[in-house]
Amino acid sequence: MSLNKPTFRVNIAANRKSTERKTLFLDIKPDTSVRVRIMPPTTEAGMLFGKSVNHFKLKSEEGFGLALGCLDEHGNDDTGTNCYLCSLVKMLRNGDKAEKKIADDMRASPRWYAQVWVFDKDEGSYFGPKLLGLSKTTAEAVNDILVAQEDSGDDYFCDVEQGQDLIIKRTGSGLNTRYNVLPTGKKMPLSEVDADWEEKMIQDLYAALEIKLEDPDGQKRAVYRSFEDELDWEAIQEQIG
Ligand SMILES: [Zn+2]
Repeated sequence: MSLNKPTFRVNIAANRKSTERKTLFLDIKPDTSVRVRIMPPTTEAGMLFGKSVNHFKLKSEEGFGLALGCLDEHGNDDTGTNCYLCSLVKMLRNGDKAEKKIADDMRASPRWYAQVWVFDKDEGSYFGPKLLGLSKTTAEAVNDILVAQEDSGDDYFCDVEQGQDLIIKRTGSGLNTRYNVLPTGKKMPLSEVDADWEEKMIQDLYAALEIKLEDPDGQKRAVYRSFEDELDWEAIQEQIG
């Protein structure tokens, strides 16, 4: 039957979408834009963003890429609040070129995460929740829109009934990356974005971010297995322990 004959044609867009949606995190690819509805805060603190500070470029015991939460920012009673990785980065910044490079890769890197529903232009519908990670300047641009709305007596873009989408456009890559944030101006209730938004919404943003914490000894072990041969461990022991 010709109807059942396989076409062997690959649907690139569908494949990409299927992998994209597996992760809770939403990335804006270079030179693309996303249209998102930022959800209202879930806690009394009234914060739109959950801030996470991570040290990247480390390796797990299994040899996979690992990011560890900065203890200066996320440390608790179990881990303490003195970040070994921050101390090491500070020391390596005064080192040779190779050490400076490691310091740069491993420095504490903050991101501001907002919970969003994403508008899919092809489907004409939204999917969510997703966690959209923004740089400081982009998060500030989002905050600036809130301030402008407050000043002009307009509804906030995250308002449950009278909110609206933001379009975040990314141009360039690397150090030249720029983000532009604009409100769409089209107000609509969250119930039109997703009838089940309340049930689906992530209540604990920080838990969803799954920031991995190790105490200073654990952090040190992670650096050792990641950069064992590239660092002068005697000097490190002497200077920061
Ligand atoms: Zn740190």
